[in-house]
Amino acid sequence: MAITNEYLKGVLADVEKRNANEPEFIQAVTEVLETLQPVAEARPDLVEAGVFDRIVEPERQIIFRVPWVDDNGKVQVNRGFRVQFNSAIGPYKGGLRLHPSVYIGIIKFLGFEQIFKNSLTTLPMGGGKGGSDFDPKGKSDGEVMRFCQSFMTELSKHIGADTDVPAGDIGTGAREIGFMFGQYKRLRNEFTGVLTGKGLTYGGSLARTQATGYGLCYFTDEMLKANGKSFNGATVAISGSGNVAIYATEKATELGAKVVTVSDSNGYIYDPDGIDLDVVKQIKEVERGRIKEYVERTSHANATYTEGCKGVWTVKCDIALPCATQNEIDGESAKALAANGCYCVSEGANMPSTPDAIEVYFANNMLYGPAKAANAGGVATSGLEMSQNSERLSWTFEEVDGKLKGIMQNIFASCDSAAKEFGMEGNYMAGANIAGFLKVAEAMKAQGVC
Ligand code: NDP
Repeated sequence: MAITNEYLKGVLADVEKRNANEPEFIQAVTEVLETLQPVAEARPDLVEAGVFDRIVEPERQIIFRVPWVDDNGKVQVNRGFRVQFNSAIGPYKGGLRLHPSVYIGIIKFLGFEQIFKNSLTTLPMGGGKGGSDFDPKGKSDGEVMRFCQSFMTELSKHIGADTDVPAGDIGTGAREIGFMFGQYKRLRNEFTGVLTGKGLTYGGSLARTQATGYGLCYFTDEMLKANGKSFNGATVAISGSGNVAIYATEKATELGAKVVTVSDSNGYIYDPDGIDLDVVKQIKEVERGRIKEYVERTSHANATYTEGCKGVWTVKCDIALPCATQNEIDGESAKALAANGCYCVSEGANMPSTPDAIEVYFANNMLYGPAKAANAGGVATSGLEMSQNSERLSWTFEEVDGKLKGIMQNIFASCDSAAKEFGMEGNYMAGANIAGFLKVAEAMKAQGVC
């Protein structure tokens, strides 16, 4: 979909000029502006208030040095980031990514998407994101702790329970959140809900670990049902084998599907008998190992491992749930999925489909659940963790999971109705962008030019 609206063309041209070396950020903004064209036409008041011009520029970007000492006594230096993108509807909220590919463009694309995602949850959370080019892979616990403590020493100056509440993302799990929380408490001498994804013994929420994967399946289930389909009896291809992939596999299986693939950045497993999730959890959650070990560890004799992660999309499936990283499905992979009869792609990872891939989904009338909506369960449950911290109470697993399911059903309903209202029925990407945008835009307009 090209931008034809002259005003939005100008907004995008400015973004391209200002952020020329950040292709992921430009990609994320382009997709949103394309689908907001009918809104810009229907709402000249938002144009006049400069909402579109303002929403594409972060309120604040912080870049800092993260020095730490490795196990050999050598000084290492990483770069830390926090982008506080938009606080119109609540304190900044969004995860911390620890991966060598991290640079400001990745953090900005994630922070920008987070604005709309958080708005869709209906909880009062603004958009932010952060992280570092630190790679936790192959590091000892001591090295990870020293990195996390150094990272938080600077980050603590910019965050707070009512200002900015970071969480996990790629490379940041319970271990890293624990080290960061400990350092924040030590520096500030306060025990507050400044991070989410915390351990259960110090303010974490039940069901937060499962939330993104479960939420993805709750959203996808609603989308399937609305279109006369279901997980029951379906074959599902999942990429990744981290937090999102593991709990998406668990819930999809519970809903009656057979998940036949998982992957990591080296290669993928195809198991025609259905993924043996206990083995994946042991390798990934306990031992922090590589997915290729699955074949020797499972009793499923037909399981195979193939080097290279892209091949995962050539496996025959009905439903694809990308849960690894950005731009992991390109046009060619999308065509392979369509040719194999896949009728639904729903995104656990952030921006896993390239623009070419999305075109293929629409050209083949596939159901497409965009990340902003489909993976919002993680941040929604982080919002529920914040509520429990404020109340100084803990809810049961069933209570949190029940609320998560209700939120995901509402998100689907909002995407569906916004798409219909703006004449794009069945285009849940447009629906998610419009519904997420409108709430933030009204708040920005009400708060004046700031
Ligand atoms: P994890 O670190 O737990 O797992 C990431 C998985 O993706 C691993 O299997 C990893 O393999 C694989 N992966 C990472 N980078 C690449 C790459 N460049 N190419 C191929 N595979 C890769 O992260 P999460 O499961 O938490 O996050 C996965 C996705 O879900 C991300 O896009 C994240 O932003 C998104 N997300 C996460 C949420 C959460 O609550 N955790 C919430 C919403 C979205 P390897 O081990 O080899 O690196």
